[in-house]
Amino acid sequence: MAEPKKSLLSLGSNLGKRKKNLDAAVDKIQQTAGVVAVRVSRYRESKPVGGRKGQDVFLNAVVEISTTLTADSLLVNLQRIEFELGRVRHLRWDPRTIDIDILTFEDAIISSSKLTLPHPRMTLRRFVLEPLCDLVSHQRHPETGWTYQSHLDHLEQAGNYALTINLSDQSAVNAFIELNRCDSTLVTQSLPVSRSAADLAETFDLLKTWSASSSFVLCDFAPRECLLKEKDFLAAIERHEKTILTPRLLVILTDNIHNESRQQVLRKLMPSGTVTPWLFVDITNEDVLLQEFSALATCHL
Ligand code: ADP
Ligand code: MG
Repeated sequence: MAEPKKSLLSLGSNLGKRKKNLDAAVDKIQQTAGVVAVRVSRYRESKPVGGRKGQDVFLNAVVEISTTLTADSLLVNLQRIEFELGRVRHLRWDPRTIDIDILTFEDAIISSSKLTLPHPRMTLRRFVLEPLCDLVSHQRHPETGWTYQSHLDHLEQAGNYALTINLSDQSAVNAFIELNRCDSTLVTQSLPVSRSAADLAETFDLLKTWSASSSFVLCDFAPRECLLKEKDFLAAIERHEKTILTPRLLVILTDNIHNESRQQVLRKLMPSGTVTPWLFVDITNEDVLLQEFSALATCHL
């Protein structure tokens, strides 16, 4: 018999009787063969992030389970539960009376089209981190090494801006232009990758202004990008970073979302440990790119 593994799940509902949906999902998770223990956070309300405008407020929870299932078969079971609850509600136009995501499965790090672990957006979203901290505030995120409480504190304290690094040869300029056109809270600015100490100082001068902005700023560059090529500027960058609010997020654009040697990239960008949470985003799908970008402005609220 396999040792039970710990897994953290995120539950959300914004359609129908939200509390009933969450209760029903928790019951069904509990009754799933191979799930041996369940702990549930408080239910908390949150505003919808991304997606269609005018959606109702969500009710969210985090559930910790012990399970002898594999991550893949756990996902299949959770999708069955989503399906069963959606069908009960007969909501053809929006079957997701309930969304159940796997946040973590032990310390597994996986990136496939079916399953990404840890859940890529878990560190950006207050509606995940708050209920998570009800249960396991001192536990560490498998990739960042930060406690979940530190991630929640970061959302409160970080500047209202994100930085971007593009690993691909493809340009994201269309998405940036489209964002500026449709979303008044977003501003982007282009700067070359730093090539000298003077460039670096200039970059951080600009960041200083934007980092204190009240509306969200998405910068289409990141000072640390130069570290992908050489480490020379690390000490200078670290010094400059101390003088401004940290970015809420580092967006890493890639055309190879499931095969990128992420650990290698991250070690180059942040050789002395996590400086800021990151999100890998597929640059090849413009719709996905725009959705991800627009959700960034409000995900921490
Ligand atoms: P979302 O949760 O992003 O709002 P869906 O619930 O519709 O969207 O999930 C879309 C797909 O995400 C699923 O088909 C599933 O295979 C995939 N997926 C990848 N990683 C995970 C994860 N950690 N937990 C749940 N689903 C995941
Ligand atoms: Mg989901």
